[in-house]
Amino acid sequence: MPSHRVPQGMDAAPTVGELTPPDRTLMGPGPSDVHPRVLKAMSTPLVGHLDPSFIEIMDEVQNLLRYTFRTDNKWTIPVSGTGSAAMEAAIGNVVEPGDTMLVPTNGYFGDRMASMAERAGGEVVTVDAPWGQPLDPAAVEAAFDEHSPDVFGFVHAETSTGVLQPSVPELTDIAHANDALVIADSVTSLGGVELRVDEWGIDVAYSGPQKCLSCPPGASPLTLNDDAMDKVLSRESEARSWYLDISLLEGYWGEERAYHHTAPITNVYALREALRLVAEEGIEERWDRHLRVAGALKAGVEGMGLEMNAPDDFWLPSLNTVRVPDGVDDGAVIQYLLDEYDLEIASGLGALEGDIWRIGCMGHSARRQNVSYLLAALGNALGEQGAAIDVDAGLAAMSERF
Ligand SMILES: *Cc1c(COP(=O)(O)O)cnc(C)c1O
Repeated sequence: MPSHRVPQGMDAAPTVGELTPPDRTLMGPGPSDVHPRVLKAMSTPLVGHLDPSFIEIMDEVQNLLRYTFRTDNKWTIPVSGTGSAAMEAAIGNVVEPGDTMLVPTNGYFGDRMASMAERAGGEVVTVDAPWGQPLDPAAVEAAFDEHSPDVFGFVHAETSTGVLQPSVPELTDIAHANDALVIADSVTSLGGVELRVDEWGIDVAYSGPQKCLSCPPGASPLTLNDDAMDKVLSRESEARSWYLDISLLEGYWGEERAYHHTAPITNVYALREALRLVAEEGIEERWDRHLRVAGALKAGVEGMGLEMNAPDDFWLPSLNTVRVPDGVDDGAVIQYLLDEYDLEIASGLGALEGDIWRIGCMGHSARRQNVSYLLAALGNALGEQGAAIDVDAGLAAMSERF
């Protein structure tokens, strides 16, 4: 165990230096680089969570979230906590004991959905697709025929595989034809790739702030339509979590504005500023930027001689999975980038551990300068490992795309 982890006891006052975290460029699966305006918003004075000025800020955040989610849902709020908190609020309220929830097996986050649904007292059934492939609507239809689930969850942007789920309206149509509600994980898509909650018939969507919104984690977007809210508000038993009980959160974020728990004020400020940046840019322009910048990243990686893991048709611009070439140590490359370039990328998860790198291109990190830096750095890291790659060809392919 490194010496700094040895517990010191309470007798001697610990000597701890001033906080000086390294200045990283964040291009992993999140958090992404935070916009300076968001950091600035976080250093503004606190007000009380029921201060009239904060009530106004809450309204603004809710309106900005509706714009970003492309929804008119009244029930659109930031949940206190990370993306998993919004995820657990969604699943833990919509799934009642005895309900059946259909979840995907084609990535890491479908498994998390399953764990949460089980803890909510639900029965879990699965629709299968290999890791690195999206769900096939025909398979979803077959799963509905076999299991008649009450709730269907899917991951719009699978951060573990770099796969974007296409044909969302087809999936929601199948669910609705079977009287089921749809919960979409949009953690790595909100504010980064096209997502239209209302038009696509998504009943519940949750997200996180630290991915394509480029905001620190702490207050996480959640939206529910009337059908979903009707189910939540007419539950026979209370949701198992008091903290994430949407019927109680309603008292604070709804008309009443009464105390439930103290909102993470600073995180709400941050989210407000991050969403203001989305509105200033325009949501569609923002989706286009991610496509353009990540497209250049992808062209650069491929131009160098590396291979993407996700098939082109399902490529997820906000999270690029790159196959580790034979003979290269994935962890050594990650460490080299961190040590020599202060640049963060990530390794594979679950079934893809050791096989891929995950390179985020999200929010404020989705910029031309980040992509050039990443490609040059990755080229050097691979050169150190003796990999046969052509960095110049990669940079040329990137420039051509820009
Ligand atoms: C990051 C992520 C989550 C979980 O969010 P946390 O903020 O880490 O709790 C859930 N789903 C997907 C697809 C993610 O990428």
